[in-house]
Amino acid sequence: MNKKLYESMPDKLSGTTSKSRGTQDELIYTHIFDAILEQRLIPGTKLSEESLGEIFGVSRTIIRRALSRLVHEKVVVNRPNRGAVVATQTLEEARQIIFARRVVEKAVMELVVDNAQLSDIEKLKDQVCAEQECFAKGDRGAGIRLSGEFHLHLAEIANNPSLLSFQRSLVSQCSLIIAQYESGSKSHCSCDEHFELIEAIENKDKERAVQLMMHHLDHIQDKLNLEDEAATDDLRAVFSYLKSKKRRKTSN
Ligand SMILES: [Zn+2]
Repeated sequence: MNKKLYESMPDKLSGTTSKSRGTQDELIYTHIFDAILEQRLIPGTKLSEESLGEIFGVSRTIIRRALSRLVHEKVVVNRPNRGAVVATQTLEEARQIIFARRVVEKAVMELVVDNAQLSDIEKLKDQVCAEQECFAKGDRGAGIRLSGEFHLHLAEIANNPSLLSFQRSLVSQCSLIIAQYESGSKSHCSCDEHFELIEAIENKDKERAVQLMMHHLDHIQDKLNLEDEAATDDLRAVFSYLKSKKRRKTSN
């Protein structure tokens, strides 16, 4: 294992607690998870055990363990004859995931307003400042990762392990949906909206905090092209216009 890999690991909310950090599969999991959060790994990418084993300098067994956790979180799927690939979502799946995220984020916000300590609020502010800096200096990948981590941090403050685990899976799946379905403008969280959320938490205003979060998710969703049903693997549907042309010809 490349020693540099361990040294370069940033201290972040990636499910790697101080106890579990350091196991090789955890570190590789974190690298792949981050690449998905940063939208550096696009949906459909093949995750070859052999290539990853060479890149990280570990055995395929270790790669398989890292991948199986990502499969469990639904960001990687095992395809027959292809092996592990980064998940792609159909339009319907994308809509369902976004709906599930709304449900979880609402519950998270309610708990965060109840549980957040001053130190949590300070940490959230620091995180959004760092996020803002990344976008300002053009480091979009890191900015997007920090945006995702802001939402994971909220779920941590909520102090409900099941919600945190749902949130981890949903935030990373949403990152893949953004990569797959973003329309024109590059979509990511607004730092201003993150600051507004923190303010509502600080004021212990649960209603406003939940409302702001729902608006925040609306804005992310608005930038996605989830209405376009044009692309399909149904050949008859793709070429259905030929039928009507034919009909027009025969009626002339
Ligand atoms: Zn956000």
